Amino acid sequence: MYYNESTVLFLDGKFTKAVDAKLDLFSQTLHYGYGVFEGIRAYQTINGTKIFKPGEHFERLRRSCSLMRIPMNYSVEELTQLSYQVLERNNLSDAYLRPLVFCSPNMSLTAPKEVSVMIAAWDWGKYFSSAALRVCISSFQRPNPKSLKVEAKACGHYVNSILATMEAKERGFDEALMLDMNGFVAEGPGANFFFEKDGTLYTPPLGNILPGITRHTVIDICRELDIPTVEKYFRPEELFEADSAFFCGTAAEITAIESIEGQAFHKPWKKSLGRVMQEAYQNIVLDKSYSDVIV
Ligand code: PMP
Repeated sequence: MYYNESTVLFLDGKFTKAVDAKLDLFSQTLHYGYGVFEGIRAYQTINGTKIFKPGEHFERLRRSCSLMRIPMNYSVEELTQLSYQVLERNNLSDAYLRPLVFCSPNMSLTAPKEVSVMIAAWDWGKYFSSAALRVCISSFQRPNPKSLKVEAKACGHYVNSILATMEAKERGFDEALMLDMNGFVAEGPGANFFFEKDGTLYTPPLGNILPGITRHTVIDICRELDIPTVEKYFRPEELFEADSAFFCGTAAEITAIESIEGQAFHKPWKKSLGRVMQEAYQNIVLDKSYSDVIV
């Protein structure tokens, strides 16, 4: 699904066939989740293949490394160029890119001496299979910023995400919405969250969530289209009074939420601000203008 016999990836300064690439089983990342990664999309635009916001993603990768104190020497420009080469060598245009920084063999809980950088890409359509998601409130909280560097996109943090998504599916839902350690709504296991109420979009502030690049893009679109946005802490009960809601993320793009804990939003998605964001976001990633999107 992610690679075949001819897939090429970048690993430690070289382009290598994915089937020949090797990982040392004593990697500190494999045992302890101590590594960082990114999730980036490329699109076939009217101006050719374009990676969406590579600067922002690779800045975040570098920041994740520095927060986790993982040494990594590639610059944003080098990582961007290497990513374009991975796409080209695999003949990919609409694709998902996965840069991963993982550590050398070390079974101690000490700083890594050497790190490896991998960049792989594959064809990845829609992240969610259904058009609008039935979401539950997870029993799992997002990690406490006093335990982990929550603003880093670190491998080990996704154990929490996997547990939350599995629980949601076991309960018959499509996805989970997770709270922070104070009981305020935080984010999805792999996406940020917005809700609409009386013409304004609300989202949790930075601090207990991953600073999403799509979240930032949504806020920019709102500024451009004169749609008020408010970053504030809110409890899940407030969502039962909301008009509509959506998840946003690189993989998820803008995904409608149909209901929370079985309670459906009354506003049709077609008339929601989420739908406006969905249309504007598609235009931006495809390098088209979005000023004509009808609010
Ligand atoms: N929160 C979490 C926990 C995520 O994994 C992601 C996906 N990277 C996001 C939010 C959205 O971030 P972005 O828009 O940068 O993809």
